[in-house]
Amino acid sequence: MIDFTRDGHLHTPFCPHGSSDSLEAYINRASELGIKTLTFTEHAPLPERFHDPTPDQDSAMALDSLPHYIEALQTLKRANPEFDIRIGLEIDYLPGYESETLSLLEPYAADLDETILSQHFLLVDDELLPVDFSAETFHVLVERFGSFEAVMRRYYTSLTTGLSYPWERLKVDRIGHIDLPIKYQHNYTWNRLNVRDEQTRLLHTIATRGFGLDLNTAGLRKPDCEQPYAIDVAIEATTLGIPFVLGSDAHVASDLAADFKFIQKKATFL
Ligand SMILES: [Zn+2]
Ligand SMILES: [Zn+2]
Repeated sequence: MIDFTRDGHLHTPFCPHGSSDSLEAYINRASELGIKTLTFTEHAPLPERFHDPTPDQDSAMALDSLPHYIEALQTLKRANPEFDIRIGLEIDYLPGYESETLSLLEPYAADLDETILSQHFLLVDDELLPVDFSAETFHVLVERFGSFEAVMRRYYTSLTTGLSYPWERLKVDRIGHIDLPIKYQHNYTWNRLNVRDEQTRLLHTIATRGFGLDLNTAGLRKPDCEQPYAIDVAIEATTLGIPFVLGSDAHVASDLAADFKFIQKKATFL
């Protein structure tokens, strides 16, 4: 069963591409909406060798901000004992940088409660290209792989491969927005049946590894998507015993728990 009083995917003022909304503003919004459990999952610092290909190079928090982020959330927990506040990160799954990601973040793992592992970049000819930066940069992937469906298949197989690393060491609990390329699905003709084999393999791997999924409402707010991420794999995932955690992926306080009511009405199978 999905806990509709829990928002498991929240960004913070520590996000370089987010807003300056304070942590208290998120708590106030949670209080208004009856949300009791909040996991803050700021974009974790990226390995030094990785060159962020997004034009503003603002994908993630800087490493020297990480201790301040953790401290701010520890203070927030102490000040708001009536909420279950969890300290998390949204950790980038970067193909080819797995060991560096693990060694970079492991020193902080003891301070983390639960984290999300998310893939935002795909490896193309030794180059990592962004999946969700813009429709234009996404289209580069479609051209390089040959079709929207080919991008989806690569997105799935890349994650399947990546799950062989010991992400538990970074307190990974679930996989973020498992079908992120659908952010631009309206720009292409595609059929999920044509990516089904890769999707099923990934879901089996997730089930075997004991991870959950982030049922992420941000997709509903994207004009070329208009549906929550992971909703179309929900029935298959549930059959495999994979648990879901709702997440708004809010980068502003007003988006906290956005569209949770929509999910509650639609997803009666969860
Ligand atoms: Zn973000
Ligand atoms: Zn993300």
